[in-house]
Amino acid sequence: MSAAAAIALSAVAMTLIVGGRYLLSSGAFALATRLRHPGLYRGREAQIRREIGWSLASAAIYGIPAGVVAWGWQARDWTRIYTDADAFALWYLPVSLFAYLLIHDSWFYWTHRAMHRPWLFRRAHAVHHASRPPTAWAAMSFHPLEALTGAIVIPALVFVIPIHVAVLGLILAIMTLMGVANHMGWEIAPRALVHGRAGRWLITATHHEAHHAVYRGNYGLYFRFWDKACGTDIGLGSLSAPDRRKHSPAER
Ligand SMILES: [Zn+2]
Ligand SMILES: [Zn+2]
Repeated sequence: MSAAAAIALSAVAMTLIVGGRYLLSSGAFALATRLRHPGLYRGREAQIRREIGWSLASAAIYGIPAGVVAWGWQARDWTRIYTDADAFALWYLPVSLFAYLLIHDSWFYWTHRAMHRPWLFRRAHAVHHASRPPTAWAAMSFHPLEALTGAIVIPALVFVIPIHVAVLGLILAIMTLMGVANHMGWEIAPRALVHGRAGRWLITATHHEAHHAVYRGNYGLYFRFWDKACGTDIGLGSLSAPDRRKHSPAER
């Protein structure tokens, strides 16, 4: 098989994996929502169809660079992904995990803030905020331009920062689960975590819900560090009263 055909095949395979992972994770949380909070998504069938459509388009945008990099890793040894656990000291495993999460979080915070500038909001980010409020299906509901900014981070990092393949899998799992959980309209994390010491630094659904309710503030992805450092942390939203959420126009 030619290299071009192998790259194309890898990109298609990755697109199917990302799309399948989205359908399984969002589907599972949508089912959990139906069991835990019956009727929460009632009357939002058209919105959910839009969320699924944008998310599947995003799956291809995420899948293509991931597929090219996966091929380069296997066929050309391009990346710094390693499989031998002894290649680095044991302490490096959690350090690399946090390094990836912190860099991804920083990239997301600043690109997300930029997306709230009126010009970019109208052209791209409005798609994500068209879900009022979002559902579990909105995890990857992004305009292609925004999906592209999200799709390049991890494929770029694997060229620079060594990462064990299992840690990389864990990062992708955290990314997927937090993407779904933070949009599904109810809090799955224990109250002690959300309102406790850890919750002051970690983002959960209650925090991201406030971003979708008032548009400005709470721009982070995993951690509240940047929001706190830049004065954009608007605190926790209220998920106990979904019907009373206010929605104001985009930041101008
Ligand atoms: Zn969101
Ligand atoms: Zn936003």
